[in-house]
Order: sequence, then C-alpha cells, then structure tokens
Amino acid sequence: AKCTQNETFQQGRLSDYGNVELSPAAGVLNYGQGLFEGTKAFRGEDGRIFLFRPDQNAIRMQIGAERMCMQSPSVQQFVDAVKQTAIANKRWIPPPGKGSLYIRPLLIGTGPILGLSPSPEYTFLVYASPVGNYFKEGVAPLNLYVDDQFHRATRGGAGGVKSITNYAPVLKAISRAKGEGFSDVIYLDSVHKKYVEEASSCNIFLVKGNVISTPATVGTILEGITRKSIIDIARDIGYKVEERSVSIDELMEADEVFTTGTAVSVATVGSITYNGRR
Ligand code: PMP
Repeated sequence: AKCTQNETFQQGRLSDYGNVELSPAAGVLNYGQGLFEGTKAFRGEDGRIFLFRPDQNAIRMQIGAERMCMQSPSVQQFVDAVKQTAIANKRWIPPPGKGSLYIRPLLIGTGPILGLSPSPEYTFLVYASPVGNYFKEGVAPLNLYVDDQFHRATRGGAGGVKSITNYAPVLKAISRAKGEGFSDVIYLDSVHKKYVEEASSCNIFLVKGNVISTPATVGTILEGITRKSIIDIARDIGYKVEERSVSIDELMEADEVFTTGTAVSVATVGSITYNGRR
C-alpha cells in the first residue's frame, strides 16, 4: 500500500513475490528512511496457524515511524496485512517443530526527495519466507564476541526503533566475528564502553541466582517483543526480573546467559569472549 505525506494508508493488495520499482531519488535509497519488522507464523499440532503478537510489531512500527518522520499504517492495517500474507503463504508454513514462516513488513520512503527532508510518499509492504534455525548452531549454545570497537547505536540516535539504518553499520562487526568462528556480536554502550546493550538481532538476559536481569531500554536498545514476553513469563513463574544497566563484567560472571528475538526465539549462550577473556 502507498500513501503520501499527511495521508493515511489505503487498503493494499496481495501480489506475487517480485521486484519493487523505485525512483532513484526515493527517500529510502538516499537517506535510509525506512523501518522493518519481523514476526513469525507457526503451524500448530491441529494444523491451525499462529502469529506471534503481530499487534506488538504494529505498535513498534508506529513508534518508529514517528521517530523517522514517516506515515505509518494503523495497527489494524498492519495486522491484517500480516494475517493475509500468512494465509496466502499457508503452504510454506512448516509442520510443528520444523521451522516457521518469517514475515517481514517494511515501511519505506518511496517518494523522490533530493534535499534532506521526509519523503513525499511512503510504501508499506510485507513479504515472507519459510525459515529454520537462525544460527547454524541450531539449538546448541552460542559463542558470542564482545565488540568494543563498533557500536550499534548511540544516545539520541535511532537504536530504539527498528530503523534499517541501524543494521548496515554492524555488518562489519558481524562478518569479522563470524570469520573468527563466533556466532554473533555483543555490543557495548558507546559512552562508557562498559554496559551491555544487545546482540545484532536479539536482546540479552543473564541469570544470577534466582534473579534474571536484562539491560534497560534507554533509546539505544531495541525493545524486543520476545524480551517482553520472557520478562512477563519469568515474573509469572516467580523469578525476580530486573531491567537495569548491566556491565560486561557482570555478564561475564553470570550463572547463565541467553538471548531472545523473533529470529532466534530463545538461544542459550555457551561462551562470551571479551578482551581476550572467555
Ligand atoms: N535487537 C535487535 C537489534 C533486533 O533487530 C531484534 C529483532 N527484531 C531484537 C533485538 C529482538 O526483538 P524481537 O524479540 O521483537 O524480535
């Protein structure tokens, strides 16, 4: 679906997977005015299809759109589009336990704009792909590398929203870590280079005794939907959960560490390498 500035999105349509035509001067191509989301459809034992909290992705996209000066679809439009995409691709949803259908909504500035200002037109689109495990380790524990050279986000930046601009700058950190045999990177805050933020596409938790802690979201960390579910479930079953600053030293001393995200679900961490320490 398309809409121009100060308008609301009209109803979209389903079409076969294919290329998107863009103006060379599109806001997304020139200034990175774009947001994405990620959610999954699962098949239940009885064959029914489940979506994982798509309304939460819709709300996160609205918050992101406000930050990035974009028009955003309504929660209803977003959820309907995700549902329609899942139903239209039903045959690609693997059987229970064999993976899921990853659904990727995008909101991009498609209107031409030469000067640095918001795009005059936006496009909301959704595509999907069946997926298995995110990490090649499958369900084996991850080996994470703490990178204190590259940062994912800075205070006042767009790290708190799912802006496409947050991802290309860490490709170098990820490929360097993967080249050395690590599964992913843990980023530290850019001010003190001491506090844990998150991994490339997931949030981090640590367990010490009966307390579960996770870095507080202070604008530089993406507020994961899985993160919120895990906090709620852990509290429901009697754990104390703290959202606060977590130093890297504390993470290294934890009893247990795990990461959460739509792509990874919940993944256990086997080792963390920081400054030559493991
Ligand atoms: N942090 C980052 C940087 C991410 O890209 C993601 C994936 N959306 C997450 C955390 C986890 O968020 P969620 O649980 O909503 O997938």
